[in-house]
Amino acid sequence: MTLFSTYFLMDTEEIKSYVKENISFMHQASNLEASEIGDGNLNYVFRVKDVDSGKSVIIKQAGHTARISDDFKLSTDRIRIETRALQHAFDRTPALVPEIYLFDEVMSCCAMEDLGDFTIMRTSLMEHQIFPLFAEHISTYMAENLLPSTDIVMEHKEKKAAVQSFINPELCEISEDLVFTEPYFNQNNRNIIQHENAQFIQEHLYDNEPLKLEVAKLKYLFLTKAQSLLHGDLHTGSIFITEKDTKVIDPEFAFYGPIGYDVGNVIANLSFSWVNGLAHHQVEFTTWIEDTIRDTIDLFQVKFKEVWKREARELFAATSPSFMQFYLHDVLSDSAGMAGLEMNRRIVGLAQVKDISELDHDKRIQAEKLCIRIANRLIIERDQIQTGDDFVRILHDLK
Ligand code: ADP
Ligand code: MG
Ligand code: MG
Ligand code: MG
Repeated sequence: MTLFSTYFLMDTEEIKSYVKENISFMHQASNLEASEIGDGNLNYVFRVKDVDSGKSVIIKQAGHTARISDDFKLSTDRIRIETRALQHAFDRTPALVPEIYLFDEVMSCCAMEDLGDFTIMRTSLMEHQIFPLFAEHISTYMAENLLPSTDIVMEHKEKKAAVQSFINPELCEISEDLVFTEPYFNQNNRNIIQHENAQFIQEHLYDNEPLKLEVAKLKYLFLTKAQSLLHGDLHTGSIFITEKDTKVIDPEFAFYGPIGYDVGNVIANLSFSWVNGLAHHQVEFTTWIEDTIRDTIDLFQVKFKEVWKREARELFAATSPSFMQFYLHDVLSDSAGMAGLEMNRRIVGLAQVKDISELDHDKRIQAEKLCIRIANRLIIERDQIQTGDDFVRILHDLK
């Protein structure tokens, strides 16, 4: 029996022993420093550093409850899902995710590469920094990871087994409630609404029956369309960035769902940065965001087709260019719809984004209405939204 043969939540002292015992390049370390650096709502993230060699490692541990509230119970299986999803992405795109060193089922933790020099993308975007390579990187991440886990590429029995191993009911339920339901009903009374916008939200969301029909359709896609292994929470707070590199982290919401959910999350969160830049009159920045939205969508399509041509094994997919067009059209429409859903939920729902919520109050009120207008067009018009330009045109029309 070692200390770590039964689960408990580790503190910084215990984390140091854990690292010394379990991480091979730390076995000899005699001078370890540890600190808790987590900033999320759910998990504990530690950085452990060997002061002598300068080497470091990140340990992420899941608790039985969310770190923000003990009332919020959540299966620790999420850390297995996260680790497996990161390993899956590392196999395809090693430059775009941190390397995983170990997964420990007993302690519900994983060890991974320390991305010390990287910054969380949302933080940098709020300072209106520009990342010229982002569209290139994120389109590669999505095309290379999403299509290969579909029935287009995978042997169908293997794919079903993969669907099963990524069943993630509790984390999916969080999204079902927060993204797909509460922003349109507020039945749990958790929505966060600025009173100046209450009437607007009543009209544009709660009482908007044609919109709610489209939201219902998209919710059922999320519930039933086990298309591909998603990241499941691909917002700019789950992306680490530098001028040269991009690393996607935190896929604990991973499951088999519609590809458009990931693509839509990226576009929605870029759109929040665009609205923030607009509020601050940052023309160079908003122009770059527009280019990035356009390039992300267009490059994604180019790369998606390349992966399809190279790897499609399903017979119809391998032999019918028209089927590829049909499939891609569907992915893009889902992406537009899901982008709209992400935008509405971050304005009205419990989990807000700083890009909007930290604007000066008067600007925030205007920005929120703009986001909801953009969101609703993305949802309603999604069948016609297919190119990068189609996305950018909506921003231009409404600004
Ligand atoms: P949560 O699931 O609780 O949101 P995250 O995986 O997003 O946890 O990590 C929370 C924070 O910890 C990140 O915003 C980042 O600051 C830090 N962090 C996470 N992973 C790493 C890493 N591999 N290298 C450096 N810092 C990290
Ligand atoms: Mg996170
Ligand atoms: Mg989080
Ligand atoms: Mg997380």
